Formats: sequence, structure tokens, C-alpha cells
Amino acid sequence: MPALLASVDPQKLTFRQSQGWTCALCRKPLRADQLLGTVELTYGGGEVTEQVELWVCRPLCREAPDA
Ligand SMILES: [Zn+2]
Repeated sequence: MPALLASVDPQKLTFRQSQGWTCALCRKPLRADQLLGTVELTYGGGEVTEQVELWVCRPLCREAPDA
């Protein structure tokens, strides 16, 4: 789901979204989920980067945007 992943701004994710507790797209608590992809988060003015897996609703809560 690269188009959907590209629509997510990693810097605007909430802590809960980055932990996979809530959907990366709609922010609802996740029950059934699926992996959207991995993004890189940056902290501390660019000193620390972390690979974070993003989880989204299953079935998807949002249509993939037209590429
Ligand atoms: Zn969702």
C-alpha cells in the first residue's frame, strides 16, 4: 500500500499511532489491523531516528489515493 503510506506524514503521527495502538490513517483504536508499512521518525532535532511500523484498520478505513 505504498500510496497510502506516502499519504502519512510521519512527523504528524501521535504517540499512539507510532506505537500501533491506533490507526495511522484515522486514529481509531485498532482491533483488527494490518501493516501499512514502515516509516522513519526523527526526534531531537534530527539526532535520533527510529524505524516505526504503521498499523491501519482491517478492512481499510480509507481508499488509496489515485497515484
Ligand atoms: Zn483506520
